[in-house]
Amino acid sequence: MTKKTLLWLRNDLRLSDNPALNFAVNNGDQVIIAYILDEKNHRQIGHASKWWLNHSLENLNANLKNKLNFYYGDSQQILTEIINNNEIQTIVWNRCYEPSRIAQDSKIKNFFKEQNIEVKSFNGSLLWEPFEVLKSDLKPYKVFTHYYRNGCLKKPAPRFPEQKPKKINAIKDNQSLTLNDLKLLPKIKWDKIMSQYWQIGEDFAQQKLRDFVSSALSDYKEGRNFPTQKKVSQLSPHLHFGEISANQIWYYATTHFGDKLNDKNLDCFLSELGWREFSNYLLFHFPHITNKNFQPRFDNFQFQENQDYLEAWQKGKTGYPIVDAGMRELWQTGYMHNRVRMIVGSFLVKNLLIDWRKGEEWFFDCLVDANLASNCASWQWVAGSGADAAPYFRIFNPVLQGEKFDSTGQYTRHFIPELKNIPDKYLFTPWLASKDILKQANIELGKNYPLPIIDLEKSRNLALLAFKSLPKISNDDKLHG
Ligand SMILES: Cc1cc2nc3c(=O)[nH]c(=O)nc-3n(C[C@H](O)[C@H](O)[C@H](O)COP(=O)(O)OP(=O)(O)OC[C@H]3O[C@@H](n4cnc5c(N)ncnc54)[C@H](O)[C@@H]3O)c2cc1C
Repeated sequence: MTKKTLLWLRNDLRLSDNPALNFAVNNGDQVIIAYILDEKNHRQIGHASKWWLNHSLENLNANLKNKLNFYYGDSQQILTEIINNNEIQTIVWNRCYEPSRIAQDSKIKNFFKEQNIEVKSFNGSLLWEPFEVLKSDLKPYKVFTHYYRNGCLKKPAPRFPEQKPKKINAIKDNQSLTLNDLKLLPKIKWDKIMSQYWQIGEDFAQQKLRDFVSSALSDYKEGRNFPTQKKVSQLSPHLHFGEISANQIWYYATTHFGDKLNDKNLDCFLSELGWREFSNYLLFHFPHITNKNFQPRFDNFQFQENQDYLEAWQKGKTGYPIVDAGMRELWQTGYMHNRVRMIVGSFLVKNLLIDWRKGEEWFFDCLVDANLASNCASWQWVAGSGADAAPYFRIFNPVLQGEKFDSTGQYTRHFIPELKNIPDKYLFTPWLASKDILKQANIELGKNYPLPIIDLEKSRNLALLAFKSLPKISNDDKLHG
């Protein structure tokens, strides 16, 4: 009898360093490789992510010589049908760490085990398993540095990446839908614009890693703060969909540095991968961080409902150029540089006093790297309500941030062409320019570029006042770390 294994793919859309795929290939004669779009049991993925997912699946399917199978609906029901229709003996997957996935995976695992189907799961996406890194009292860490330096780095080194299987005997299931049946592509003409920015799939992810390591990593620590300097990897969407693994990045980068493992740029880059781990770690141990403040005292914070402000922020029309440039970058490219994510996040929560959850939702819909763990943890970090978060009184001033991190104005002018002719001196404060200067630059404030929607100083003071009125740090909060 032919021995068949079912490989269930999720955010591991690659052939190299895929532990579940390698197990499946070595386990028997044939592999059925399945991707299920299960919108009923998990948070709906955003429009930008759907767009990316479509192309990522397209790419993987081509690499599998059209042997990738597509399904839509309830995962357990579909897996059961595949297993029954194809007389499958073993099912394998790489683990996911979102709460809804963990709940579903353990249900599915028990269900199939009861039916004498062998079930195997692997770690294909994290450097360290969240349940293996604990403090000496066996509680989870709550402070990044302690988690990463005392927890992760003192553990055995991450798993070394595995090779791509030499041969994959993948078979097509006759119940498979087509990729188009998943209807992942948006109806708006976003596709064309976004395609100019991204090359999607495993090979491109590997190429991007090589380019980044050879041309940018040696200046990462400083360079990563400046949105126009190409000193960040832009690997986040590839990592999110698993076109490349964190292990591949970790070992490629460290190997490149040879014996100079203490290099500050390498250390900084690896620690950013550490932040990704930490976000997943927090989500694993504190699943409520997706919609509840990590620090409960923030539950009393008086956020304001202001749809006009929210829309101005979403559309990049706040009148603060660096904020608007970031929000337009997000809309046009599905990405935003990390420095600018922090600036626009701080502006939403600490100047407009809008709930971080509204920002999280918008990012989740618009980012190609939208990731439940990183997005929620980062928004809570920005808001000050998270684990090891930025203190609430750290309110980014968008004028100073623009002047410091986009001093030539290249980034801001690129995304706000209305401001392309304004002198550098006024780029981040166009409202301070004289009528003549504005006229020469073809700017009519309030007409072709907005006046600031709020006063920075007043809104900052309001935020600080609201913060001060929160209950004092509770014992629980004090325990962080
Ligand atoms: C408000 C806000 C929301 C965010 N939402 C997301 C999100 O949905 N998905 C996401 O992947 N990242 C998110 N981030 C984190 C960070 O901005 C991105 O990971 C980073 O900008 C991706 O660009 P890069 O690949 O060039 O990063 P690089 O600087 O090249 O870093 C390499 C990798 O490390 C990881 N990383 C870097 N910084 C962080 C960080 N602060 N937190 C977690 N992981 C990090 C990413 O996987 C990244 O690809 C958010 C940050 C903020 C402030």
